[in-house]
Amino acid sequence: MELLKKQRDFFTTQRTKNIAFRKKALKRLQKEIIEREDDIAEAIYKDFKKPKFETLAAETQFVLAELKLALRNIDIWARPERKAATLMNWPSSDWIYKEPYGAVLIIAPWNYPFQLAFAPLVGAVAAGNTVVVKPSEVTPNTAMIISEIVNAVFEPEHVAVVDGGVEVSQELLAERWDYIFFTGSTRVGQIVYESAAKHLTPVTLELGGKNPTIVDETASIDLAAKRITWGKFLNAGQTCIATDYILVHKSVKDKLVKALKRYITKSYGENIEDSPDFSRTVSQRHFEGLKAMLEGEEVLFGGDSNEDDNYLSPTLVNEPKLESKLMQGEIFGPILPVIAYETEADIERHIMNYGKPLATYIFSNRKSFQKKIIDRYSFGGGAINDTVIQITNEKLPFGGVGSSGIGAYHGKTSFDIFSHQKAIIKKANWFDAPLRYPPYNLSMKLVKKIKHLF
Ligand code: NAD
Repeated sequence: MELLKKQRDFFTTQRTKNIAFRKKALKRLQKEIIEREDDIAEAIYKDFKKPKFETLAAETQFVLAELKLALRNIDIWARPERKAATLMNWPSSDWIYKEPYGAVLIIAPWNYPFQLAFAPLVGAVAAGNTVVVKPSEVTPNTAMIISEIVNAVFEPEHVAVVDGGVEVSQELLAERWDYIFFTGSTRVGQIVYESAAKHLTPVTLELGGKNPTIVDETASIDLAAKRITWGKFLNAGQTCIATDYILVHKSVKDKLVKALKRYITKSYGENIEDSPDFSRTVSQRHFEGLKAMLEGEEVLFGGDSNEDDNYLSPTLVNEPKLESKLMQGEIFGPILPVIAYETEADIERHIMNYGKPLATYIFSNRKSFQKKIIDRYSFGGGAINDTVIQITNEKLPFGGVGSSGIGAYHGKTSFDIFSHQKAIIKKANWFDAPLRYPPYNLSMKLVKKIKHLF
């Protein structure tokens, strides 16, 4: 592939190793995003009517915050890090050098199409790599503006966009990359991992999952309903860390359902289709998939749709069966199953029915219960008495575990994942301990006493 060869040649010139070069590039990106923020919001609106506030908060300003942090800290992050030396190597100084991998491939999904292309890109460029980004074909207007921004800011041998769908993605994956960063479904994540394995390419896989939200009988129900409603119907439920289903203690279920209905109406009005604050399902295919999930289910609220616009209203579903379509996989839309539990065994039966989720939320005022859930179940990350907000602190690594992903990023973690940690010991020449050299008879007695001889 010609583009990749160009990027490899460019990387070989060592220019990306220069911190001032990286900073200049990131500053140009910062300026371009600030200047084009309205165009970006318009493009995403054209793709699936994402409200401008959500674009600013979760896409452009999110990326700008990552950029600001990287620009402020890149000198420190990139500096070789000194570690305590061992006695056996005395006299030495021991270091970790941060080495860019080289040619990075970033494959992005459609749901936060701007953020999920540019947030990893910031880390990859800050760490001194070249980058090819493949945006999602499902959001073509955003893909176009991503291309325009990258073309305006970077030389193609440094960073470039390759547009296209599955075939283009597969062509890219057939190449040998030095690092692959993929965000998308677990199914495609497996394909990416297989392709990467052929070249032993390291990966970060940011995948999906079926995220439970547990509401126990001690929870502050009104606040729980408010926070679940916000996190679930933001982006019309098309958020990887949104609640997938609610497990609520049966004694407070009715109260919770009532409060959820109230907050949905409070947020989006009586006629939700006219609300400027509610996105559309991204495509006809996704819309039909969601409609099919509702077949045969008991709808407690919503369920309204308009196929001309891929509109599906916030919908509450009562007690879907584990074997129903709705509970087979990730919903990824504005449908929210509400399931009552009686015992902790009921909670376990549901959670353990799926791979490890990307997120889990616990609404409870009992510390012991909160702790029990955190300790017992494995999941990417989560929140107590809230949803989604764990993504907003750049000091917290963001990523999945098991079927919800491999690796994490954001903030300094983004810089670290795109850097090989090269261990170097700098040995002094003025002394050379004889212990490690043969003949060994003199050192034999010492070998068990001194750890880390080699
Ligand atoms: P997807 O896996 O269908 O597509 C993601 C990317 O992979 C796209 O660029 C697409 O062109 C490409 N692709 C699709 N099929 C491919 C194939 N067979 N071979 C190679 N490449 C292929 O995902 P999506 O529908 O765009 O996004 C939704 C999924 O992403 C959900 O599962 C969601 O949970 C997950 N997600 C995860 C995160 C996270 O941070 N963990 C964030 C957003 C979305």
